[in-house]
Amino acid sequence: MSASFFSSLEEFRKGRDEGAFSIEESVRHYLDRIESHNPSLGAYLTVNPNAVNRARQLDNRKARNPAQSPFYGYPVALKDNLHAIGLPTTCSSAMLANFRPVENATVVDRLLKAGAIVLGKTNMDEFAMGSSTENSAMGPTKNPWDPARVPGGSSGGSAVAVAAGLAPMSLGSDTGGSIRQPAAFCGVLGLKPTYGRVSRYGLVAFSSSLDQIGPFSFSAADALALTVLVSGPDGKDMTVSSRDPVEMERDFAMGTRGLTVGMPEEFFGEGLDGAIAASLERARAVWESEGIVFKPVRLPSAKYGINVYYLIATSEAASNLSRYDGVRYGLRSLSVPDLKALYENTRREGFGPEVKRRILLGTFALSAGYQDQYYRRAQQVQALIREEFDRAFHEVDLIFAPTTPTPPFRFGEKVADPLSMYLSDIYTISANLAGLPALSAPSYPTPSGLPAGAQLIGPAWSEGKLLRMAQVLERAVGTKRPPDLFSKKGETAA
Ligand code: GLN
Repeated sequence: MSASFFSSLEEFRKGRDEGAFSIEESVRHYLDRIESHNPSLGAYLTVNPNAVNRARQLDNRKARNPAQSPFYGYPVALKDNLHAIGLPTTCSSAMLANFRPVENATVVDRLLKAGAIVLGKTNMDEFAMGSSTENSAMGPTKNPWDPARVPGGSSGGSAVAVAAGLAPMSLGSDTGGSIRQPAAFCGVLGLKPTYGRVSRYGLVAFSSSLDQIGPFSFSAADALALTVLVSGPDGKDMTVSSRDPVEMERDFAMGTRGLTVGMPEEFFGEGLDGAIAASLERARAVWESEGIVFKPVRLPSAKYGINVYYLIATSEAASNLSRYDGVRYGLRSLSVPDLKALYENTRREGFGPEVKRRILLGTFALSAGYQDQYYRRAQQVQALIREEFDRAFHEVDLIFAPTTPTPPFRFGEKVADPLSMYLSDIYTISANLAGLPALSAPSYPTPSGLPAGAQLIGPAWSEGKLLRMAQVLERAVGTKRPPDLFSKKGETAA
């Protein structure tokens, strides 16, 4: 069975319109692959039981009205913190194990309106807190390049779905790196849009001032199309900009020759694994050969990013997660002698250890007497980080950085030491703190054959330019798929 039914959105559109395949056939291809590979990979938590039906309906409608959006009939996977009517939203938490949303997320509405088909919901770290998907209450997701290794997180399931050919594209969310880091670990492209590009309506809130929804794909062109589709105001998330998403397409179409790209000294020094550094050297050489100019820049406050993030994100999380009280949503403890015990027991039983840790940290950071010392100071340093990016973008068009300090690590390697887990986001977190768009593009694999990610960070609203740069690298590196999953029936890895 081939890895993908089509190699790009454009190829899908063409094959669909020329009648090379039906929408039902294309959906069945992915459902079959999910059936064969999901038991070992654990990328999906729920498969949409209605996918084939919807495909048939779309095939019928198409017979009467052939001109349709490229996404008409296109299958996608959704991280399980995005609401889609008819499917549970669990956030990989016991707290929401049986929760069914009554509304669609705006991104889901837009996908459905364009005719897309939801294949299912993907595994994640509980409430998007983590970097390995090991914090899921629903079990682990395996890295398709090496099942002994983590896929990254928190959107591990969405990254693996695409990397393993169980969906052609997926959506995830990124609060501190949760799209880019798993994309890097799984060898796919992941984009976190500018804060305010995509509505967060219907995304279960973790840290509302940092959360953004974005795509996973194999190609920059596909990521662009999906981002444009889901972007723009909906009247439901007041932080969304009224800018026309189509500007991303214009920027994408422009050349890259003559762009200047900054390399922050702070991101290429100590702590960066040699194999990643070597891969990124090769990526830089590709860009340089295309006339892109690199120069050093400084982001001296970025090193405080983790500290700032774990105060701001946990403070917001403590507040956002206060709604899970056994009354309004999800789990309700059965041992409830009184109201206080209902709250306490529900939260004790419903939340996993990492979520509890974050709630405790955030509650402490916001508590009387400590707010100025922790939360306010974190906001001040956040302002410094933003200013330093602003200054850097006076000198350069974009910033190039590693996505992760190391290749994908092994299961269990970091779970016992939360701090070392937190440090896996050291290069991704500052883009969230500054609200900037950033992506991870597949770079050259390490000598042991593991994926490595090249991160590009741009000024606000520069997604098109970031993706254009990623496309240059994509043409040089080529599309690499995990060999074991695709070689079985005579399929080649590339
Ligand atoms: N790994 C980071 C955390 O654990 C980021 C998570 C995210 O982006 N959702 O909070």
